[in-house]
Amino acid sequence: MEPLFTLLVGFSTAGLVWLWWRQRRANAALRRQLDQARARQEASEASRQAAVAEALAQRATLLHGMAEGVALLDGEGRIQLVNPAFERLFGVPSDVVGRTLLEAVRSHELDELIRQVRTAGHVSSAEIEWPGPEPRSLQVNATSIAGGRTPGLILLVFHDQTRLKQLESTRKEFVANVSHELRTPLSLIKGYVETLLDGAKDDPALAQRFLQTIAKHTDRLTYLIEDLLTISRLESGPTPLNLQPTGLRDLVERTVDDLAQRAAERQVSLTNQIPAGLVVRVDADRVQQVLFNLVDNAIKYGRPGGHVTLGARALDSAWVEVSVHDDGPGIPAEARHRIFERFYRVDKNRSRDQGGTGLGLAIVKHIVQNHGGEVRLESESGRGATFHFTLPREPTPPE
Ligand code: ADP
Repeated sequence: MEPLFTLLVGFSTAGLVWLWWRQRRANAALRRQLDQARARQEASEASRQAAVAEALAQRATLLHGMAEGVALLDGEGRIQLVNPAFERLFGVPSDVVGRTLLEAVRSHELDELIRQVRTAGHVSSAEIEWPGPEPRSLQVNATSIAGGRTPGLILLVFHDQTRLKQLESTRKEFVANVSHELRTPLSLIKGYVETLLDGAKDDPALAQRFLQTIAKHTDRLTYLIEDLLTISRLESGPTPLNLQPTGLRDLVERTVDDLAQRAAERQVSLTNQIPAGLVVRVDADRVQQVLFNLVDNAIKYGRPGGHVTLGARALDSAWVEVSVHDDGPGIPAEARHRIFERFYRVDKNRSRDQGGTGLGLAIVKHIVQNHGGEVRLESESGRGATFHFTLPREPTPPE
């Protein structure tokens, strides 16, 4: 009996040990599975956080890089975020977040636009003139964002149209000016031709006078077309310059020769005081045009019987300043800042009478600037005018 009992005890002990071992293995497997699941969860949480961080960084980069101003408003109209372009456009600090748009930028037009979007519930756009320290023309698109976690969000995107509007109005003004400048001599020519045809041609003295006037206005039209072509070439981007070392004194001498006849007609003396040996690196044809326009003006608008003097001095090793001085009536203070604008004239009738196009000084400014130089006017009413402009010097080779 005893050996049988011992055998049974032995078997059941082995059975228990086996069960215990199996249970341990199952526990270990379960723990491994749990560890793996936890590791997977941690990895997915980390990658979710990385994805969120990346999305936020992308959004920030996008908003920072946008030329358009962006503002996001919550359901109560308070600013949730703005980008740097918005801060620049409206000149507001970045701490506008939390304030209402009206508090931040004080535009009732914008407030009205937002009200419309809230009522209509879709996209709305408007053009607003923002009269801040730097007035701007803005096109704004407002969109209501539905379905998000925060109800009533409104996204505003502002496009700055100021420059475009300015260009558009400059273009319109230019076209209007050109049309006017063309129409005036044309209608005068037409009038004289009709008078001639109506019988004035039979009076030789009258016919001669009318034909001379027609010739004068035809010349004016020719100068105008030439100046318009020049200015349009100069304004259609940087024109290639044929830069060559050029003796300044000789260049000025050529201009003085070209205008000697015109100066003589008004008994104006032209004096070339440019020191010999000043060499500039310029496009000689273009600088000749600058000199021609300035000296021609000095003769036209200076004093009959007056003096026009051309001088120059080296400013430093890189620049030379050239001056054209007349002793005429000068240019009144209120006109000085506008004198280089296209079609601006102090005395319209005098300019037209002299065959002026109103484009001479605008051409001067363009050509000088194309050489990297600057042009300025010094004048006191009644005490003449001096136009100064700078030109690049030809570098002197080391000895
Ligand atoms: P314009 O073809 O009329 O001469 P410009 O652009 O050359 O056009 O000159 C613009 C205006 O500046 C002239 O109409 C004239 O009123 C004024 N102006 C230019 N140069 C002188 C000067 N030396 N003295 C007085 N007024 C001048």
